[in-house]
Amino acid sequence: MRTSRRNLLRSGAAALAAASVAGALPLFDRAQAQTPAPSGRTLIKGGSVVSIDRGIGDMPQGDVLIEGARIAAVGQSLAADNAQVIEAHEMIVMPGFIDSHRHMWEGAIRNLIPDANLRDYLTLILGKYGPAYRPEDVYIGDLVSALSALDAGITTIVDWSHIQNTPAHTDAAIRALQESGMRAMFAYGFPELGGKPWWVETSSHQFPGDIARLRKQYFSSDDQLLTLALAATAGFGNMDIAKREWAAARDVGARITVHASGKDQLVKLGNAVKLGPDTTYVHCGGYGADDWKLMAESGGSYSVSPGTEMLMDIAMPLLQGALDAGVRPSLSIDAETNVPTTMFAQMQLCLAAQRVALTQRKAQGEKEVPKPISARDVIEFATIEGAKACGLEGKTGSLTPSKQADIILLRKNAINVLPVNDPLAAIALGMDGSNIDTVLVGGAVKKRDGKLVGVDMKRIAELATQSRDYLVSKVRAG
Ligand SMILES: [Zn+2]
Repeated sequence: MRTSRRNLLRSGAAALAAASVAGALPLFDRAQAQTPAPSGRTLIKGGSVVSIDRGIGDMPQGDVLIEGARIAAVGQSLAADNAQVIEAHEMIVMPGFIDSHRHMWEGAIRNLIPDANLRDYLTLILGKYGPAYRPEDVYIGDLVSALSALDAGITTIVDWSHIQNTPAHTDAAIRALQESGMRAMFAYGFPELGGKPWWVETSSHQFPGDIARLRKQYFSSDDQLLTLALAATAGFGNMDIAKREWAAARDVGARITVHASGKDQLVKLGNAVKLGPDTTYVHCGGYGADDWKLMAESGGSYSVSPGTEMLMDIAMPLLQGALDAGVRPSLSIDAETNVPTTMFAQMQLCLAAQRVALTQRKAQGEKEVPKPISARDVIEFATIEGAKACGLEGKTGSLTPSKQADIILLRKNAINVLPVNDPLAAIALGMDGSNIDTVLVGGAVKKRDGKLVGVDMKRIAELATQSRDYLVSKVRAG
C-alpha cells in the first residue's frame, strides 16, 4: 500500500513538472484590482428567501433591500424608490457561505495529491512544498483560493495561513485577500521549516511576535473586510509554547484558531491558558466528553472538516460529541491539495458522516440514538456558525437588517434541482457551484450572471501556472 501511494504521488508530480520549467514570477504584478465600497440602494426582488435568521424565517417569495454595504430590510413587496433592482424570481436568496478554516496558500497546488493520507500531506506539502514557497507563491495561491471560494458562493473565509516563512510571505497573503474583495479572517500562522517546529530559531520568520505589526499596519480598524486571528500550534503539546501563542494573540485582541486532537487535550490546554469564546478548535479528533464540555462552557467554537477527516485517513468527524455537548460546528474545507472545495460538498459529507455514525450505533444494538441532523442544520453550520467562528455573527451569516450585505443568489431553474420542492434540500443536497448566479460581499457585486466580476482570468491562470510549475520543479529537484 505504501509503495503504491508513493508511486502515485511521484507520477502526479512528474506530470505537473512536465508542463514547463518556470522562472520567477513578476513579483506582485497586481493581478486583481480592489473594488470600491458600494453606495446607493439595491433591491433583490421576488426570490425564495432562506434568511437563516430564526426571527425572520424563510419566505417562498420575498425581497431584500440593501443600502450601501448593509441589509436595510427583508420582507415581502418592499417599496424601494430609486433602487437598482436585481430580479430574483428564479433564485434562492440566502447569506453567503462561510468557510471557517482553509490553508489558502495551497490554492495553486490544489488537487495535487488526492490519494494521499495525512502523513503524506505532512511530509510532502508541509515538509517539502511549504519551505519552497516564495512570497509570490503565497500571493497567487491565496488569490486563486479566494476567487474560487467567491465563485462557489463563499463570502467569508478563514485563511489558516501557516506559511509565514518571512514577514514578506505574510504581506503577500494579506495583499491577496485585500485584492480578492472577500470578507476574510487572516489567521497569522507559523512558518514551514521542513518539519521543524516554529520555536526552533531561524533568522527569517517572526512568529508569533509579528502579529503586533500586523495589527498596526493592516488591522487597526475592525470596520473592514479583513480581521485578524492567530493560527496557533498549542506547542504541539508543549504548554509553555501554547502560553506564548495565546498571550501574543490576546495582547493584540486577535482571535485564536488551533488544530486540535486527542482525548483530554482541551483539559490540558485549559490548565495552561484561560479558555475563552475567542478560540476556534479545528478537527478535534479523539476529543472526549470532558473536552467537549470545556469547549461548550468556555464558549469556544468547533470547525469540522468532513472532507479531510474522511478522505485523508484521519477519523470519522466527531460531530456527535460536539452536538451532545451543545456545540454546533462550523464547516471548513481545509486543504485544497486533497479535498473538494465547495461548501456544497462539505454539507453533503457532514450529513452523511453523522448518519453513518448513527446507523453504526444502531447496528451495534443501541436502541435510542440521537436525532439525525437536517438540511437546515448543515446550512446553518455553513453560514451562521461560520460567522460565530470568526466572531462576526453581528456582521454576517444571516439575512438580518443592519448586517453586512453578504448575499448569494442560487439558480432554481437549473436542471440539477428543478422543480425545487424544498429549497433547503435543494441547497444541501442538489446544488453545486454551477447554481451560484450572483454573489455580493458587503453590498459589492463579486459575481453576476454566473461570472466573477472584474477578474482577469487569463492573468490569474498564468500566474497560478507559473507558480505551480516553479514549486513542483523545486520540490522535485530536492
Ligand atoms: Zn487544517
